[in-house]
Amino acid sequence: MLGVILDDQLNGLPHINQTGEKMIRILNRLTIAKHKRGLSGKVLKVLYKRTLERILVYAAPAWWTGSNAQTSKLLSIQRKVLLAVTGAFRTTSTLALQTSSGIEPLDLVCAQETAWYHIKKSCVDTSFCSSGRFQMERTLPVFLRVPSSWTLVQWDRIPTFQDLVIFTDGSKINGQVGAAFCTFNKGAVQEHQYRLDDHCSVFQAEAVAIKEAIKWAARHFPQSNCNIHTDSLSVLMALQNPLLKNDQILWIRSNLNDKIALHWVKAHIGIEGNEAADRAAKNATTKPAIDIHLGIPQNTIRSHLKELLQKEWQKRWDDREAKGRFTHAIFPSVSRTRCIFNKYDIQAVSNHGLCPQFLRRFNLRNCSCRCGEDNLDDIHHYIYRCPLLGHLRERIKPSTPILSILSHPALREEMRSLLKTVFGNERDIFQDN
Ligand SMILES: [Zn+2]
Repeated sequence: MLGVILDDQLNGLPHINQTGEKMIRILNRLTIAKHKRGLSGKVLKVLYKRTLERILVYAAPAWWTGSNAQTSKLLSIQRKVLLAVTGAFRTTSTLALQTSSGIEPLDLVCAQETAWYHIKKSCVDTSFCSSGRFQMERTLPVFLRVPSSWTLVQWDRIPTFQDLVIFTDGSKINGQVGAAFCTFNKGAVQEHQYRLDDHCSVFQAEAVAIKEAIKWAARHFPQSNCNIHTDSLSVLMALQNPLLKNDQILWIRSNLNDKIALHWVKAHIGIEGNEAADRAAKNATTKPAIDIHLGIPQNTIRSHLKELLQKEWQKRWDDREAKGRFTHAIFPSVSRTRCIFNKYDIQAVSNHGLCPQFLRRFNLRNCSCRCGEDNLDDIHHYIYRCPLLGHLRERIKPSTPILSILSHPALREEMRSLLKTVFGNERDIFQDN
């Protein structure tokens, strides 16, 4: 049904299996292209985030239950992508692969998508990462926005000082939000200040200032021509955008009439009215109580959910019992921007690579390094210490941290060539015990 496979038990597994197979077919083609055309793991990561992940989390609210079976199935599918992106040994743990490639755990992405859906539908259950409840800014459903009833909102860039003149502004300082408008009428100046909830955006504040100005003018000067000035181009553009569904914007749009003219003024160029509104809005942020309550803007919720996901991901990564502690010592915090996509780099950060310690650990070969210098014989033995490779080591010192090596092109090349040499000369370097 609509691309979602519903099963008798409603456990969502058949759906995951099918989308998983679909994704792996695409991934195989991409990895072939990776080898043939030199597509980098970095590009693969972008393709995954933009398309493959979208396929996997498609309609998640319909099938995601968060069960262990679903989680492990999803992670095993994601693992194939992580291996392809990083070029890591198959023994590397999923957690270490996620952190090294900067790709979030797929089950958390599903949970986030589901939470987002529930918030949009204002369902009660938004227990994503124990986030509690969100009251989102109200939006009108699509069918109520009829394009035919739509006339373009006009505004100009010429400040005017005729008739009733109003300057509006919104401000966010130290996490507190204020909106204000100043009225200039026959020499009399008035200030109106409103403090908004701290979660509000400057955009919301700018819109509220205009909304309150319109209300005030309609109440006190219904017969006058009213000139409203704002320095917020984004609100003016939003008023012209028929697809925008923000509550404040819709209110302003439907309450505009031919007595109200909108003007855009450039901020901070000394226009007296604008400066006065700016000061008033800043003062409004410090008012002791909130005057106007608005929901949280969609974008804010989106980024908050993203933060929650990252926190949860970090919590998993910090679990002392979890796998990937070697990598954790190098990358203590998770990050979406990190991407290790070279097969030697990933060996250096995971310690899963060709070295006697690895071969012994996975019962592949009971051997040690011919040099006999230390009995650990891990990947770092070859990067930092093994005298058999001493002639290749020019810049890397035992004190150079792996992170410095990875971020320095010349050091990185040296490290890669050291590990490549081990790969090509396994016979000469390792000896059976
Ligand atoms: Zn050695």
